[in-house]
Amino acid sequence: MKSFSCGAVVPGCTATFRGADDGEILAQVAHHARHDHGLTEIPDELVGAVRSHIRSA
Ligand SMILES: [Zn+2]
Repeated sequence: MKSFSCGAVVPGCTATFRGADDGEILAQVAHHARHDHGLTEIPDELVGAVRSHIRSA
């Protein structure tokens, strides 16, 4: 199981995500970023930042 806290990348955001692997987390984060942070696309830098903060849980 992997986990990711959005606050690691977006200060103040309390959303957390869990998934079986990085891909599942990234899919959830992409949805969250669009709906809660108003991003229409997810830049490669953000994907890299998210990946670097995904923890084994
Ligand atoms: Zn967030």
